[in-house]
Amino acid sequence: GKRIVLASRPAGEPAPDNFRLEDYDLASPGEGQVLLRTIWLSLDPYMRGRMSDGPSYAAPVPIDGVMEGGTVCEVIESRSPGLAAGDIVLAHSGWQSHALVDGRGLRKIDPNLAPISTALGVLGMPGMTAYTGLLAIGNPQPGETVVVAAASGAVGSAVGQIAKIKGARAIGIAGGKDKCDYVVKELGFDACLDHRDADLAAQLKDACPKGIDVYFENVGGKVFEAVYPRLNNFARIPVCGLIADYNTIFGPDTPTPKWANSIMRAILVKRLTFRGFIVTDFAAMHGDFLRDMGQWVREGRVKYREFVTEGLASAPEAFIGLLRGANFGKQLVRIGPD
Ligand code: NDP
Repeated sequence: GKRIVLASRPAGEPAPDNFRLEDYDLASPGEGQVLLRTIWLSLDPYMRGRMSDGPSYAAPVPIDGVMEGGTVCEVIESRSPGLAAGDIVLAHSGWQSHALVDGRGLRKIDPNLAPISTALGVLGMPGMTAYTGLLAIGNPQPGETVVVAAASGAVGSAVGQIAKIKGARAIGIAGGKDKCDYVVKELGFDACLDHRDADLAAQLKDACPKGIDVYFENVGGKVFEAVYPRLNNFARIPVCGLIADYNTIFGPDTPTPKWANSIMRAILVKRLTFRGFIVTDFAAMHGDFLRDMGQWVREGRVKYREFVTEGLASAPEAFIGLLRGANFGKQLVRIGPD
């Protein structure tokens, strides 16, 4: 088999030489184990955190360890009850062509219900992140205004479409005209603004004449700076990700953001709710998520877009690109035949 390991920890933006492609020998499954062949590998922003050894909510990938990641795999050989060769499963087997894993950690996927890749996207972890963060924390009401950045991406695209289903206005923020056009014309958001425009704050004021009731935070940085003054009394801010800063090295010379001095006063005076969350916090909502999102996707009310690169060797460049906005839709790597 082939696998990609973490060769060294990045300083700032990851580089190709932080990764190493290796060959390894495949072993046969022991009692309770299955041998998997990877079909789809998901690339997700959280992997940048796993490459560093700073304090976080999850342990880092060790040097020379296989890069972590969600996968959709075919069972090649099984010694686990309930799983047989040919079954398609959701696994967390990382950046490799094959994996020997404990059968108990796997969830079977029915290829007749939806394309199997969606188990890593709209019907998987990113979709669940959008659903839980928006509904459990954001709680959008009819007529309210919801703003989300990385709006053409895996999480953001679902956030805006669910907001619309709940009767709210959805305003997206994305990088570039193509992504913004897609977000409005294909996904049905009410507007989408380009965060590269120098006058983002002014555009946001026009797009949100009644202020912002829910800001689903995917990005941080300059986007938060533009959104912050427009937050209404009692606004809810699910803090999901801060991708603008994932490659930032913070030190004594890092400039202090403009809002830093006023944020506690704003939280008090406007009675704002900021709540950070990790999707696994809402595991109890998984059944509701699969029922609702499954239905919305089947009915075409939630659309999704995939951005696929071919072959395991493409993963490092694709991942570096994801942190820069080179992806247009859910970033996936196709490892084998579908
Ligand atoms: P996306 O598919 O949205 O891809 C990442 C996107 O981030 C890029 O395409 C780019 O879009 C945008 N981006 C990158 N840098 C910047 C920047 N400096 N300013 C503005 N936008 C930027 O990824 P996901 O949907 O998988 O993830 C979205 C967010 O959700 C991330 O922050 C991620 O960490 C978080 N997340 C959190 C989870 C949790 O449990 N809390 C679980 C899953 C995801 P563009 O070109 O439009 O700028």
